[in-house]
Amino acid sequence: MSFPMTPAEARVDLSAIRDNVALLRGHAPGAETMVAVKADGYGHGLVACGRASLEGGATRLGAAYVREALELRAAGITAPILAWIIPPGEPLEKAIEQDVELSAAIPALVDEIAEAAGRAGRAARVHLKADTGLSRGGAAPADWSALVDRAMARQADGTVEVVGLWSHFACADIPGHPSIEAQLTAFDDALAVAEKAGAGGSHVIRHIANSAAALTLPQARHDMIRTGIAAYGLSPVPELGDFGLRPAMTLVARIALAKRVPAGSGVSYGHLYVTDSETTLGLVPLGYADGILRHATNQAEVLAGGRRRRIAGRVCMDQFMIDMGDDPLAEGDEVILFGDGSRGEPTAQEWADSLGTITHEIVTRIGSRVPRVYR
Ligand SMILES: *Cc1c(COP(=O)(O)O)cnc(C)c1O
Repeated sequence: MSFPMTPAEARVDLSAIRDNVALLRGHAPGAETMVAVKADGYGHGLVACGRASLEGGATRLGAAYVREALELRAAGITAPILAWIIPPGEPLEKAIEQDVELSAAIPALVDEIAEAAGRAGRAARVHLKADTGLSRGGAAPADWSALVDRAMARQADGTVEVVGLWSHFACADIPGHPSIEAQLTAFDDALAVAEKAGAGGSHVIRHIANSAAALTLPQARHDMIRTGIAAYGLSPVPELGDFGLRPAMTLVARIALAKRVPAGSGVSYGHLYVTDSETTLGLVPLGYADGILRHATNQAEVLAGGRRRRIAGRVCMDQFMIDMGDDPLAEGDEVILFGDGSRGEPTAQEWADSLGTITHEIVTRIGSRVPRVYR
């Protein structure tokens, strides 16, 4: 492994992303695959992950915000891209000019999109979103038909083209949760309403399945799966195993300082860790500003000198300490915080489990000071 020239870096194996996307496609034969590259490709890098996903066989990319979609376009990516959170003030005209598909859940937004399309001089490609039980984005069942009617009116005047009908699960990662079937039924109902209103052409893509649904609910795949976390190699349903996915990110740091201290030394802010004998401490130059959650204090493990070490004391803004005992440690030695586990290091899943969170949060929080290095 090459010696990093930076204090810390996130190594991203793009071949893992390609392989994971290919594996996901295999679970949804006949359906399209969209990879969610929002939040800087779940912390792995927006453009690089967009490209790797397309190379792995994804046909579309998903973004939360228009600006993410425009960044992909600026990098030369021409595949269809959907942006699904459209707060007031988004650059809709620019998005339409750049052929970014837009989600809408309220008639007023359909109108705004149609007006922007008029200015852009081309029809806007729109996915209508139904709230089937998550109670987050999407039109509630009572409002769905009005949304569809407004979109069809705008389609008739040539400013809008309805190209998708979609929804999102609340509990697809909880196998057997009763809301799953309820949402599928509600989605069928929404599709029936849309089809009756003429929005159900064969070119219209119906999609509801996130990673968990793509891997565990064949009946949810419809025309497209919309996968995020699994594409990065992290299990959407950890209690069911890893599904053969390969984690793409390895987070490494170089020891900035190693020193001997006596027994009874209080380590880091608050002295939450006290050495029980004379020992070697190592300073790892990553902190909560880099996404190492402060809750990892005295909790999460790293691999250093070939062995697991628990973080010793408070995670600080830019650094934390590890206790090496009498094992050798020198400035420049590499520490692995998490990776695919093949060298004995923790995985992002272990970090998530030990911190009471999900891997999505572990990887997306890695901060902008940490360069992403691709291999
Ligand atoms: C993030 C996101 C996804 C991907 O979810 P995963 O659980 O990471 O697969 C799919 N759809 C929407 C609307 C999302 O916001």
